[in-house]
Amino acid sequence: MEAAATLASFAVTADAIAATGSKKAKVRLLADHLLALDAGRLLLATRYYSGRVFAPGDPRTLNIGGSSLSTVLREVTGVDAAALSAAYRRHGDGGDATAEVLATAGPSRTHQGVDLVDIDAAFSAIAEARGTQAREAVLADLLRRCSPDEGRYVVKLLSGDMRIGLREGLVEEAIGTAFGRPAPEVARAVMLLGDLGAVACLVARGETIDTPQYFAPLRFMLASPVADATEAVRRMGEEVWVEDKYDGIRCQLHKSSGRVALYSRDLKDVTEQFPEVVDAGARIPDVVLDGELLAFRGGRVLPFRDLQTRLGRRNPSPAVRQAVPVVYVAWDVLLHDRESLLDTPLRVRRHRLESLALGDGFALAHLEAAVGADAVDARFIAARARRNEGLMLKDPESAYTPGRRGLAWLKLKRPLDTLDVVVVGAEWGHGKRRGVLSDVTFAVPDANGDLATIGKAYTGLTDVEIAEMTALLHDITIADNGYYRSVRPEIVLEVAFDAVQPSPRHRSGYALRFPRIARWRQDKPVDEIDTLERVAAIAESQSHDREQLVDPAG
Ligand code: AMP
Repeated sequence: MEAAATLASFAVTADAIAATGSKKAKVRLLADHLLALDAGRLLLATRYYSGRVFAPGDPRTLNIGGSSLSTVLREVTGVDAAALSAAYRRHGDGGDATAEVLATAGPSRTHQGVDLVDIDAAFSAIAEARGTQAREAVLADLLRRCSPDEGRYVVKLLSGDMRIGLREGLVEEAIGTAFGRPAPEVARAVMLLGDLGAVACLVARGETIDTPQYFAPLRFMLASPVADATEAVRRMGEEVWVEDKYDGIRCQLHKSSGRVALYSRDLKDVTEQFPEVVDAGARIPDVVLDGELLAFRGGRVLPFRDLQTRLGRRNPSPAVRQAVPVVYVAWDVLLHDRESLLDTPLRVRRHRLESLALGDGFALAHLEAAVGADAVDARFIAARARRNEGLMLKDPESAYTPGRRGLAWLKLKRPLDTLDVVVVGAEWGHGKRRGVLSDVTFAVPDANGDLATIGKAYTGLTDVEIAEMTALLHDITIADNGYYRSVRPEIVLEVAFDAVQPSPRHRSGYALRFPRIARWRQDKPVDEIDTLERVAAIAESQSHDREQLVDPAG
């Protein structure tokens, strides 16, 4: 085993990267490490440094949750649950907690040192194993062979977050530095291939890439938010294209040589969740499409919460498929046969999209041209009347720029609703937020004045506010149950959210979609906060089926 190819040297480099605040130094350390690896290990190490275990688009998952991890760690080290959770609380990071308990467990383990290839084999075995016990057995075997420092990185990789201050951009820079290629060229290859490991190997061979590849999901083009139609027109020019902004799931469809694959916004392979879209895709030409999955029945778009029932379910039963059928709404074509359309203007891409005559199971995003702010305003009002989220504004002359949030696509959304709520519980944060009570559970009063929980939020306050609130939460704690503490209902927060949905998860019977703390309302007394009645009214106003708002696709 070459020294550079070991997990031990990976861990040494990763520790050194974590220890320096200098981006330049991080890039140099990583570049030196990458240069010392052969192609197979270069692929793995680069992927691992970017926090991924498998390539984006690879359908495999590890499926090892926190409780499996603690079962395995207890078995491997002999520590008890209390010691384990204390270690976790001290470090706020599963990897660091693992290193600590592996170190205290002493010499009973059979540390042999592991190669990156062994890690890959173990991760593949975990992905293939059937059942929790089988997965835990593979992980236990791997951790037994690891030193504490190696174990730290195995667990960091399992959690999908290395937390060593290495953003993807720095990994890209390190690839360029190592192999003498300009950073923009590496970045472009990443946008097209998705997988930093594959890009590192390509660049190391002195090759470049210009076109998307079938079944390698490329990064999605993103939109910048604008406040109103005037701002949109100021940024984009008088003539804009407006499309309805659909509330479904972003999805990239690849069809080539009889195979169809679907990729979600985070480049995961979700093909098995939507067999009806795969069936429909089998009938279309070879293409890569950009669009959205929507729940759609009897000519009507169903609310997002219906679509939610389809998420994460592989090979859904006929009953599930019948209850919530899914269609693919396309708005862009990126590759047609062997021809890349990325640099072709949207005007031409849309024309090509329409000429594909996609047929059943597909729709096209509703598109209109608008000239001037007043016309955009009118379209916005019409889209909202169709109970839509808002508008997407697109520059008809623009190229498709994967992974970029530029000004060629703008999004105009309805103003967010907010609720004033009271905090009833708090949890310790993790990572940067360890040692502070940053995660709060909040509630609103029901008709009897009893507080009913409605959600939980993590972000939105400044560090100073979080520190202040942590002190206050300590003072008003009623019961400390370790991770969770109940507190006297005294802290009023204004919480923003995207939608209210019925949900059994909270006592109120409702849950907020994407809740975030907008403000700490120190000015507002608890008896003036919003009520469950208002929550129910908002949910009701959002619950009507939408009108049909997609156009048939040929
Ligand atoms: P947001 O999630 O608010 O940043 O808005 C961007 C998302 O809007 C995209 O990722 C798509 O999932 C969604 N979207 C809905 N309709 C369209 C459309 N016509 N064009 C592009 N994106 C759309």
